Amino acid sequence: MIVHLNGQLLPASEARVSPFDRGFCFGDGIYEGLRSFSARVVGMDLHIKRMRQGLAEIRLPWEAGNLAPLSDELLAANKLADAFLYWQVSRGVPPPGQNPRARNFNGPVKPTVFGYCFPTPPLASHTEPATKTAAIRPDHRWLRGHVKSISLLGGVVAGLEASDQGADDAILVRDGIVGEGTSSNVIAVLPTSGGTEIVTPSLESASILAGVTRDLLLRAAPEIVQRPLRVDELTAASEVMLLGTLTMVTAITKLDGRPVGNGAAGPVARRLLATLCAAIRNDIGL
Ligand code: PLP
Repeated sequence: MIVHLNGQLLPASEARVSPFDRGFCFGDGIYEGLRSFSARVVGMDLHIKRMRQGLAEIRLPWEAGNLAPLSDELLAANKLADAFLYWQVSRGVPPPGQNPRARNFNGPVKPTVFGYCFPTPPLASHTEPATKTAAIRPDHRWLRGHVKSISLLGGVVAGLEASDQGADDAILVRDGIVGEGTSSNVIAVLPTSGGTEIVTPSLESASILAGVTRDLLLRAAPEIVQRPLRVDELTAASEVMLLGTLTMVTAITKLDGRPVGNGAAGPVARRLLATLCAAIRNDIGL
């Protein structure tokens, strides 16, 4: 595997980062996870915009527009067309003489930039939603869920707790309001008197990430309603789905050990996966 480290392409086994790097010691950095199909990266403008906002919010100077050429270069170096790409930018190493434990950072920042990619299935293989089980866990993460922090402890602990319950993933809830998965956004299909309502938590209702997949799907499927989603609505849903760059549309078949709907991927999950694939094709001009 060829990785990118601070402007260089090199074998992963030769990549070296200082143990004093703020990313390693503090989780002081931002990341992006992107996907390419046929060597074209999906939603690049949205990824750049989100990373630029996150970098500004944590006051880390790096030009997020670099993601586009760097991603093309990384894919080419690895001879990959269908891949997941990971980019991380951390605040780098404190200048000499500065207390390495100081929370603030005095002096010029030289960010550490790291990227790698690995092969993933082609778009044409996404004909059926993947399935997973989930457990509802309390959201103990920080309150800036819209910032894609490399500090993932809250999600890691929730994931471990879900495993303890025999579930594949966690859906995070705070004060009775549904947020998101540990690495995905959530959609629920709710029975109503007149039929069904398809709901995804609104960005204002919870501390969540504005997922690029969520965004692409919302544009292509305007029937999805963005509003606060209560946990009692989630547990009564006829379908529950997770959305993400790697997750695509994944159907939750069991929630807290109980089957969701008939315990298999439902018709809305199938339809939304097809809609997402069409939106991706349109986005990358395939
Ligand atoms: N929410 C969280 C917490 C995530 O980590 C991710 C992706 O990693 C998502 C949502 C989905 O975002 P995207 O569709 O941009 O992959």
